[in-house]
Amino acid sequence: MSSGQSGEFNLNSLIRDNIKALKPYSSARDEYNSEIKDMVFLDANENPFNNGVNRYPDPQQLKLKELLSKIKGVSGKKMLLGNGSDEVLDLVFRAFCEPKEDNVITLPPTYGMYEVLANTNAIEVIKVELSNTFQPKVDAILEASNKNSKILFLCSPNNPTANSFEASTIEKLLKEFNGVVVIDEAYIDFSNEESWISKLGEFPNLIVTQTLSKAYGLAGIRLGICYASVQIIETLKKIKPPYNVNELTQQKAMQRLSNLTEVKNEIEILKEEREKLILELSGIDFIEKIYPSDANFLLVKVDDANKRYDGLIAKGIVIRNRTNQPLCENCLRFTVGTSTENNKLIKTLKEL
Ligand SMILES: *Cc1c(COP(=O)(O)O)cnc(C)c1O
Repeated sequence: MSSGQSGEFNLNSLIRDNIKALKPYSSARDEYNSEIKDMVFLDANENPFNNGVNRYPDPQQLKLKELLSKIKGVSGKKMLLGNGSDEVLDLVFRAFCEPKEDNVITLPPTYGMYEVLANTNAIEVIKVELSNTFQPKVDAILEASNKNSKILFLCSPNNPTANSFEASTIEKLLKEFNGVVVIDEAYIDFSNEESWISKLGEFPNLIVTQTLSKAYGLAGIRLGICYASVQIIETLKKIKPPYNVNELTQQKAMQRLSNLTEVKNEIEILKEEREKLILELSGIDFIEKIYPSDANFLLVKVDDANKRYDGLIAKGIVIRNRTNQPLCENCLRFTVGTSTENNKLIKTLKEL
């Protein structure tokens, strides 16, 4: 049905009416925040006795965004931070999708949260399976979409298939899909592909999400990043809870981002471990296929996924059984661990 963006991209026509009309909650820290020393803050009903976290956190996370901006080369005005990318994705749903009316498009097999968030927001999910090489089928996607298709989710590198989508395919979808395109780059740091954050100026319907949960080693603090045009970010800001990124998270993220050598080192180690793991796994007789990986995990086809999953659990190793996902019959997903953990996995697999 859909056949290319007709003329100018019109963001306003995609945003829900109630969100357009919404006046955001104005928190005490939004109304007055100053760098002047010795200001007396009696505006937010906080406990005044200092313990490090007795004050509300900065609702705009300006310092953290400034640091991220230097690292990523994107203005802080084009960023929205959330309690994990899951919160950020939920905000995108609420900004664009009218419950019981609109729909989103997902490309299974993919990250399960898109559908969970759609369901919690009463939004229909139109599923268009990936090709058998795990690439998006552009024509099928455009055909399946209609005037109520507000969001297309592209997870690249994709979880659980581990591959990146071809840049030309993504670009075609950015140009032709009549809604916003969310590129979930949770695993981008393990890939040789370039991030799409450098293309924000080129595609007004582009939203990129990243997270500190994977390569940055901070899953416990919950920090997700959304990059988009200033207009989209301003819309999302209107609906985000005022203090959605807590003080401890902001502090810990700043600390980690100030020592990028350590992060980069760990990524290099994990990429080497990934290659070692591929070599070792290819020597195991019940492993039928190891899919190429641009991420910190491997999708592996075995003779009998349920049997091998249970076998590993019995020996104290937890992996993910993806056999019930489309195109993933008898597939298991292994996260790349430390060298010790990976050796244990290999040793155990050999004993099964
Ligand atoms: C792990 C993962 C995330 C991370 O979500 P957070 O809420 O930021 O921890 C996002 N997308 C995909 C595809 C993932 O696999």
